[in-house]
Amino acid sequence: MQLFGHPRQGASHDIPARVDEFVKRTEGILGSAEVVIREHTLVPFYLPLRREIDAEQAISAIRAGGLGGIKARLGILASGFGAANPLKACMVCVKVDGLDRGVSSWHLDHQWPGAWICLLHDAVLQYGLGKVNAEGRFHWYLPQDIAFAEASKTPIDGSAMQVLRKLTACACGLGRLPQGFHFDQTTLAQTYQSRMIDLGLASPSGRLRSARFAEALASICEPLSRLHGMEILAGVASGDTGAFSRLMQERRSTPHPLKHLIFVTLLFESWQAFTSSYQQELGNAPFVKDETNTGKATVLEDQDHSRSQSVAEDVRQGMSVTRAAEAAGVSVATAIVWSAAAGVPLSRRPKKLTPRVRAQAVASLKRGHDKGVVASLVGVSIQTITFLLRSEPGLRSAWNAARLARARKAARTAWTRAARRFHSPMQQVLRQREPAAFAWLYRNDRQWLQQFTVETLLKPRPTNNAHIDWNERDRVLSASIEIEARNLVQTKGRRLKLSDLCNAVPQLKALFSKIRKLPLTRAAVASALSHRS
Ligand SMILES: [Zn+2]
Repeated sequence: MQLFGHPRQGASHDIPARVDEFVKRTEGILGSAEVVIREHTLVPFYLPLRREIDAEQAISAIRAGGLGGIKARLGILASGFGAANPLKACMVCVKVDGLDRGVSSWHLDHQWPGAWICLLHDAVLQYGLGKVNAEGRFHWYLPQDIAFAEASKTPIDGSAMQVLRKLTACACGLGRLPQGFHFDQTTLAQTYQSRMIDLGLASPSGRLRSARFAEALASICEPLSRLHGMEILAGVASGDTGAFSRLMQERRSTPHPLKHLIFVTLLFESWQAFTSSYQQELGNAPFVKDETNTGKATVLEDQDHSRSQSVAEDVRQGMSVTRAAEAAGVSVATAIVWSAAAGVPLSRRPKKLTPRVRAQAVASLKRGHDKGVVASLVGVSIQTITFLLRSEPGLRSAWNAARLARARKAARTAWTRAARRFHSPMQQVLRQREPAAFAWLYRNDRQWLQQFTVETLLKPRPTNNAHIDWNERDRVLSASIEIEARNLVQTKGRRLKLSDLCNAVPQLKALFSKIRKLPLTRAAVASALSHRS
């Protein structure tokens, strides 16, 4: 496979490998390695539920090396959902694409694990038979070239459709989260638990109400278990809820994202409802005073409130935290957090944090660096940094403010820079180019975004050749590629490389960055490169 510089590695459609090599060989026309991974693979689906540091390791492994171990590291192999993600397509989309552009293409939102509906046409997706067996696995196909099978062997009724729609929307939501977003596992578990208490699936103290929970879970898993690749859920549908109740507990190993999505589908009205509950939970981390709004203290249960006060008071009077914790019957960590929330400074007995290292870490956090960055910078674990953030009065809000400022600057810069690249930029185009920046600005900096749109995007500019007929271009270019490819195969006597085509058809090189607008050209290139002499 010439694009990846290796006969087999790389070309897997779901989790690729050797992406750096791919970017080098395509001269970056599809974007940097990060962009290729983010916009053209299923990798973004697996990262938000991993820790930041695991995600970074996975990305660099995908950029550099072979596939070995990556699927295991992302938790795909052990999931029970099968390691091969089938290629999926909406038959209406295939037809419409064919009529519109002459060829059909794969839609990323159809490929996420758990996505089984085309949200545009409300049609159940079918899965491709050509690619999933071992023999066809490393060939490239377009939807028009392969045979499809029905997702479910039995008919899908109205209530099952509803489950599928919701799960699909959740899968797209997870796959399309802003780059670099990672769920905090503790907050996530709290989000689930609060909602389960609200729904009566758990008692007010958080104890699982097994019978009700099993019943609710079965109602979701029964229709899902009839889908291709989801058969493992048949067990859950008949009452094995263990795998799911374990999700509520904070654990080191992260389950397959699909299990989370099924849980979200079960508990929440929609993906949006889930993410806003999560945000709320994140803002209301228990026992930590909200320092940005002095006076608006987080609500504690009465009993905990008085206990936390007495712990803080004991420590203020000079009692050791360990003894204060013992007296109140809570863990030492809780006592430290309570004291910090009450603004009582602690005399610390650092384990790995010497005063110098500590000062370094605090300074770095105040500049808004990520926990993982700070941890590796000063050489301690991420848990230590997390603990530092919780135990140093005022540090978390300073850190949050600095991170907000950094994120804002990054998003605004990305957006402005993208706009400058176009002669007459349009918001839709910029959105496609910078989805993460757009998502961030839309959510957090909307006023600036609107102002930018009014002042920069909508301002009329002098135009020349603004109207380009892409269809005509596509027809001309694809035709000349077909002709040149035939000549080249005869003269070279070997399989063609992309560079052969670019040299023979200079316009191809010039327009390669626009290849998404040129479906016929793309098909002509694919066919020319796969043709044996
Ligand atoms: Zn469709």
